[in-house]
Amino acid sequence: MTPENKIHLMTPGPVSVHPEILKALARPMVHHLSQAFNSSLERVLKKLKILFETNQPVYLHTSTGSGAMESAVVNTLSVGDDVLVVESGKFGERWGDICVSYGLKTDRLKVKWGEAVDPSELKQRLLTKKYKALLTQACESSTGVLHPIEELGRVCREFPDTILLVDGISSVGAVKLPMDAWNIDVLVTGSQKALMLPAGLAMIALSEKAWKRTALSNLPKYYWDLKEEAANIKKGRTRFSSSVSIVRAMDVALDLVLSNGLDYYLKHTEKKSLATRRACEIFGLKVFAQRPSPTLTAIELPQGIAGETIIKELEKDCNIFLAGGQDHLAGRIIRIGHMGYIEDEDTVYVLDKLFSLLVKKSPNTFSFDKKESALKTANEILSGK
Ligand SMILES: *Cc1c(COP(=O)(O)O)cnc(C)c1O
Repeated sequence: MTPENKIHLMTPGPVSVHPEILKALARPMVHHLSQAFNSSLERVLKKLKILFETNQPVYLHTSTGSGAMESAVVNTLSVGDDVLVVESGKFGERWGDICVSYGLKTDRLKVKWGEAVDPSELKQRLLTKKYKALLTQACESSTGVLHPIEELGRVCREFPDTILLVDGISSVGAVKLPMDAWNIDVLVTGSQKALMLPAGLAMIALSEKAWKRTALSNLPKYYWDLKEEAANIKKGRTRFSSSVSIVRAMDVALDLVLSNGLDYYLKHTEKKSLATRRACEIFGLKVFAQRPSPTLTAIELPQGIAGETIIKELEKDCNIFLAGGQDHLAGRIIRIGHMGYIEDEDTVYVLDKLFSLLVKKSPNTFSFDKKESALKTANEILSGK
């Protein structure tokens, strides 16, 4: 297959699926209460604890990642609770919107898009009220920012009434995010990001402190009720029909991610992002995020170049799928994902085509010479030189 024929899905979710995982997805169906499936499920749940770096059980919801965000809220909070949401982009807004729709008293700590939350400012806010929860993203995928979760966990530890809910949908499995060591009380993720699966499964784990909250929580819930799910898992089954195909594929995915240890796999994502960032800088593009996440790189486009056009042309001519900006960033940034099954030559191919198109659109700003030295550096970083 020539690179032009291959599909280059390099958005920050969904991502390209590893061929071994595709094979698992094609296996014939078995019943979700069969012994054959039960052993897959058991293996997956055991390996997810290693992925989350937690001693607590990890549970599955048959939903996208946002379902687990809603589950996190309805299982741990109660009517009238005060909550504080870090809002630094689209996904921070989503946390806030979920809280508001369940009638929680929702305060938003607004952070300029592209910036990370300041732990000391956050601490000052937590001192103003008895917040029951602090909700944040680990990586805000709309801007490419990685928030300092370890520091936020340390701050939250000083507030015994506050639990820390982290949306790790574009982080778990791609960025260091040890749930127990960093004092995270609820951690959620989704299948179509770092685990290189299709969308359709969400994962959630609760700390001991968060489990105590579930006994008090009075928000309405039926499908998301984790106490019910936990009772069923104890009996060796999921409460509802399992997504048999994706669970079996996750079994394979987790082996790929964990085979040389999680940290080894994280370095792989880190390397792709570093190569991309350095290449963009050499070529003359500015990285948008002040504290960039290794899972995606958002780059600013110079005035006069519309991001939508670039994205459309790359899809049409090169089979490359990148993401644009949302809201006021629409047209102004392009987001390149580093999660999923991406080989080194795929990263270089995408940068090559993107830079070539930019030279064509704006020859006064960009040059082929800069492109060549940018790609050379990217290759060196990727090959570990
Ligand atoms: C992708 C993403 C989501 C949304 O996940 P869905 O699976 O589409 O529901 C939420 N938060 C972050 C940080 C994401 O990257």
